[in-house]
Amino acid sequence: MSVQLLSAKMAEVDVKVSPSEEPAAVSPVTPKAEENQNEVLKTEASAAGGNPNSSSNPTPSPSPELAEMPQTAQHNGESLVNRDGTVTEAPKMKKIQFADQKQEFNKRPTKIGRRSLSRSISQSSTDSYSSAASYTDSSDDETSPRDKQQKNSKGSSDFCIKNIKQTDFGRREIEIAEQEMPALMALRKRAQGEKPLAGAKVVGCTHITAQTAVLIETLTALGAQCRWAACNIYSTQNEVAAALAERGLSVFAWKGESEDDFWWCIDRCVNLEGWQPKMILDDGGDLTHWIYKKYPNMFKKIKGIVEESVTGVHRLYQLSKAGKLCVPAMNVNDSVTKQKFDNLYCCRESILDGLKRTTDVMFGGKQAVVCGYGEVGKGCSAALKAMGAIVYVTEIDPICALQGLDLVIHTEQDLSSVLLSTGNKNVVVRENLDRMKNGCIVCNMGHSNTEIDVASLRTPELTWERVRSQVDHVIWPDGKRIVLLAEGRLLNLSCSTVPTFVLSITATTQALALIELYNAPEGRYKQDVYLLPKKMDEYVASLHLPTFDAHLTELSEEQAKYLGLNKNGPFKPNYYR
Ligand code: NAD
Repeated sequence: MSVQLLSAKMAEVDVKVSPSEEPAAVSPVTPKAEENQNEVLKTEASAAGGNPNSSSNPTPSPSPELAEMPQTAQHNGESLVNRDGTVTEAPKMKKIQFADQKQEFNKRPTKIGRRSLSRSISQSSTDSYSSAASYTDSSDDETSPRDKQQKNSKGSSDFCIKNIKQTDFGRREIEIAEQEMPALMALRKRAQGEKPLAGAKVVGCTHITAQTAVLIETLTALGAQCRWAACNIYSTQNEVAAALAERGLSVFAWKGESEDDFWWCIDRCVNLEGWQPKMILDDGGDLTHWIYKKYPNMFKKIKGIVEESVTGVHRLYQLSKAGKLCVPAMNVNDSVTKQKFDNLYCCRESILDGLKRTTDVMFGGKQAVVCGYGEVGKGCSAALKAMGAIVYVTEIDPICALQGLDLVIHTEQDLSSVLLSTGNKNVVVRENLDRMKNGCIVCNMGHSNTEIDVASLRTPELTWERVRSQVDHVIWPDGKRIVLLAEGRLLNLSCSTVPTFVLSITATTQALALIELYNAPEGRYKQDVYLLPKKMDEYVASLHLPTFDAHLTELSEEQAKYLGLNKNGPFKPNYYR
């Protein structure tokens, strides 16, 4: 079997340099919108916290640690790399377009089918965690929660969920999650007596799972009053919603909401006489959008928005660019700790789960290609390699390609599986699929379903056979079958669960972002999108170290002076990724 060297056709890299002639630092702060392609935006003016003039990443002047982050340069082009001396044809790759990310608040899909709703109303369902494999039981009770009269044991009925009687089951789930969410539990302990969110009326819209329940209950313990809706119509764990409602949380969510239910639930959270939200915690931007659309005056008293997802952050940047963002917003998605854990470790931990649950295939000795060797691709490759698979990577970026050199590239005809993790579109097109061998598994770990040109498989000569939930066999006229998972949507989020510990990092970052925005002195944050200060980012990581009984080395005075650092951090400049 000939493993071949791919002509490393260098990516069409258009690296610009900042005025100081330093190579522009690259950070994923800016969403990968088409208009930002090949545009290296401002770097931090100086390590001491300069004040670059990008309106989408301002530096809050009184807070040097929150200096503006540089933004991402996107490089279009193709290059494929290996190191072993033989050659093969590079799979076809197209330029990054991200057309799917151009949706604006005022371009909301309206009346559409319920099936497509989970994608259309909340694209965050594709870039943050849904509980596809939720442990929620499938209740036979078809009565809409909106038609039910339910009360918790204290007599409160300010919630709308599937079944309040599932409380005990939900509480157990939350307690299990607490075991793996040490930082939030530590925040609760540390806050005893001190309530950094006292008086904060927080309206939230996230997946309602055991893990987010731990977050919500932590916010409550820190003094917040919360009202919550789901950001995805399928991801609510009904029993968890019941446990939250029993503890007095105003939660409006159930698994299998209709579109109308979805917006109704959000509205019930926001629209309550005498209850004016002060903070928004959003995942996907739907809640923020709703308030903008229906209750714009509320923003007069809102102190800030914390947004978790790629999609929601992108929308915030659009608003900021249009000068329509009327409160400060914190981009949690691009916090270093969150990025590193969500993307690399989460995928390393969950890729095999998704593949195994859907296919039962043995990966040892099989040949797999991972397209895109960024954080997600690195995690997936590591997991597949550990399983004994022979892993190949494709890349457009020479730096990532260089990192992947121990993973040689191969021809697609011999591959047993093809996994996408580029965040790009049309990376695998019909031409590639035509060449793949019988039984090849094709799946995606990137945030939207654009990486595989699935539409090109909807042609009359190909037959689709649904063999399992989320598993389709696409059959060619000669009998060849390609195994397509989750119709090209994120494999791990569609077909498996993701590790609670990873969610702990994200949730802690969200909690700290809320605390920071809520307590920030007037003027520190303006009407723009910010990253969590580096010191807090580091704090999130430090809260997770005790789980591993890990201890940090302390800088000596002399060393700190030599490096020009404060002994207590931050230990890296803001542009460090
Ligand atoms: P990244 O930017 O670190 O990596 C993507 C890599 O793909 C880059 O190195 C880029 O050069 C490369 N690439 C782009 N186009 C390519 C092409 N045509 N062929 C080959 N390589 C190409 O991003 P990431 O953090 O690895 O995230 C990748 C995607 O995964 C994003 O869409 C992200 O939202 C998503 N994501 C998924 C999960 C999950 O749990 N499934 C978690 C986090 C992020």
